[in-house]
Amino acid sequence: MKKDILEKGAILQRDRETYAIAPHIPGGFTDTATLRKICDVADTYGLSVKLTSAQRIGLFGVKEEELDAVWADLNQDQGAPIGLCVRSVRICPGTTQCKRAVQDSTGLGLKLDSIYHAMRLPNKMKMGISGCLLSCSECAVKDIGVLGTNRGWRIMVGGNAGPRPRIGEQLVDNVADQEQVLDIVSRIVEFYKSSGEEGRLGRLVEKMGIEAFRAAVLGEAGQP
Ligand code: SF4
Repeated sequence: MKKDILEKGAILQRDRETYAIAPHIPGGFTDTATLRKICDVADTYGLSVKLTSAQRIGLFGVKEEELDAVWADLNQDQGAPIGLCVRSVRICPGTTQCKRAVQDSTGLGLKLDSIYHAMRLPNKMKMGISGCLLSCSECAVKDIGVLGTNRGWRIMVGGNAGPRPRIGEQLVDNVADQEQVLDIVSRIVEFYKSSGEEGRLGRLVEKMGIEAFRAAVLGEAGQP
């Protein structure tokens, strides 16, 4: 019986015959040449196309024997839509384009994407980066959510959607700059990796309580 093919980023579809794949498009920021290439490949192989919630473009209906050729023709990195890893870093436009933004979510988000996208972890992880508290990247339901505020950045942990949804909790507020955010996210991820937790980050936060989790990640002072 056919199943997902992780190393090719291929998800078996409902017909139990064909696969879906999704090139990695960091934050959903792309250009017309890339879009043309995706359209050309879709036409060549008779694939259907869908924009995904992870800011990717899914290509559906790929035959198993054509997976390698489709990836070769795309000549793009694979997204990480399956497996126990950082699946996606969702990024809003922030100060690059949005009139409401107070922080550069695009710059921070792309740095986080370059470090963490597809990183192997105990369970799947999603991140959301928003340039203001309107939270268009849905930070409250991401394992790690980072929101821009007038005083810096707010970091939330332990959110997720899915069958047992959980609203993330505030880990720390008023983080002064992107370097400090990167340091704190690194501490969260390293702690999660070494914790022995097999569920999503929210399960660990739930078991420990946010105070103990904060102390473990940031130290007793609760600040970086
Ligand atoms: S979260 Fe704020 S900065 Fe980002 S797109 Fe929404 S309104 Fe704009």
